[in-house]
Amino acid sequence: MAEQVRVRFAPSPTGYLHVGGARTALFNWLLARHTGGVFVLRIEDTDTGREKENAVQAIFDGLKWLGLTWDEGPGAAEPHGPYFQTQRLDIYNRYVQQLLESGRAYKCWMTPEQLEAKRNEATAAGAQYRYQRAWAAQHEAPGQPFVVRFQAPTEGAIVVDDLVHGTVTFDAKEMVDDFVIVKKDGIPTYNFAVVIDDATMAITHVIRGDDHLSNTPKQVALYQALGIVPPRFGHIPMILGPDKVKLSKRHGAVAVTQYEDEGFLPHALVNYLVRLGWSHGDQEIFSLEEMVAAFSTDALNKTAAVFDVQKLSWLNAHYIKTSSPAELVPLLRRHWDTLGLDHASRPQAWLEYAVRTLQERATNLVELAKGSRVYFDVALTYDPAAVAKQLGPDNREMLGALRGRLEALPAWTAAVLEPVFKGFAEERGLKLGGVIQPVRVAVTGSTASAGMYDVLELVGRDASLRRMAEAMALPAAQA
Ligand code: GLU
Repeated sequence: MAEQVRVRFAPSPTGYLHVGGARTALFNWLLARHTGGVFVLRIEDTDTGREKENAVQAIFDGLKWLGLTWDEGPGAAEPHGPYFQTQRLDIYNRYVQQLLESGRAYKCWMTPEQLEAKRNEATAAGAQYRYQRAWAAQHEAPGQPFVVRFQAPTEGAIVVDDLVHGTVTFDAKEMVDDFVIVKKDGIPTYNFAVVIDDATMAITHVIRGDDHLSNTPKQVALYQALGIVPPRFGHIPMILGPDKVKLSKRHGAVAVTQYEDEGFLPHALVNYLVRLGWSHGDQEIFSLEEMVAAFSTDALNKTAAVFDVQKLSWLNAHYIKTSSPAELVPLLRRHWDTLGLDHASRPQAWLEYAVRTLQERATNLVELAKGSRVYFDVALTYDPAAVAKQLGPDNREMLGALRGRLEALPAWTAAVLEPVFKGFAEERGLKLGGVIQPVRVAVTGSTASAGMYDVLELVGRDASLRRMAEAMALPAAQA
């Protein structure tokens, strides 16, 4: 039986979950789901300060919002762990001891000043600075704080068979020096902790950003010193902004939660991200099931992907249009809350009806929620130009007559309203639009809305009739 795939997402909790991290998580998650493997969440928190707790929460929230559930890690059902690096210090220590005993690591007491002096000497001599192993012995200071350095290979090649870049050969002499594996405060460095974690968590594949490619020979050298087979690596290209520079805050939204705030559907972002560095023919639209079924590391691309917010918006509009109203209602509640609209007291069927009238044209959920505002019990703001155009004296008289007819209706549904409007227009020799537009302005405050009969049904009999009466009484100056 083939070994079970075990992948991980290992974010450092430094702020929020950004789109680059989300894409890394997604690719690992897809590999796990495609192969029936395990997706581990590990928090690399040895370098983070006091803001950590919020940042960890932001990672959980972002992953959950995207639907990237993890099988092992904080909050998962699996009882292994711990999965916070700061809780794993004794595990790292055991391996440090092993390397010290086997002579593959050593203590170095050199102070930053002494290292700086060596650096200056090298610069003065016009030579390239490189740490020299012999210095450690010359600067022993037992009893003083020390770092632990890895005794790295000084020659030969380190070959990485990368899933994205193919065979990458590193010259050990160039790429790996006797780097620090434990700092003075006893905390392991990233390159050491990541190796011990991936090894002890039996990680089989590491998909991560290619900003880590230069760390890989160091990590592979450590695996070799420990006699452990390294995982398969796949280094995916960075996501770039439209100016072809690494995507950052200055390009706009990079936090996953900001996309949530701006009314993007989680699946639209997931679908957008999957195509940043992965392809499956020229297919652009993928359901989650299709992505899971089609995902393969063979189709990861080497070329950097440019973040295109227009394409993301296009996908968002597509998914808003094609989702069922029942799926959209729960996602809209936070936006209705933000707008102060009382969705909680409305029946589910009414909310779904409201969504159905607007989902065809909305590009995001904020827009959709705003569009539905007039359906709720709110004070209308009348667009003065619309009032001037549609609510002159003749139309007010017409509205009054129509209103009387509507008031007498036995039921208030789009199906009942439509023939009444048509009959009324015919009787008066008006075009249907000539009746509907003044009603639209009276009931919504503007000249643009969803289909009028639906709007009236949603607004309801009482509020519709009240708004019509109020519109007819608007001050003439406004008309
Ligand atoms: N904590 C590292 C980061 O956030 C993870 C590196 C890795 O995946 O090995 O960049």
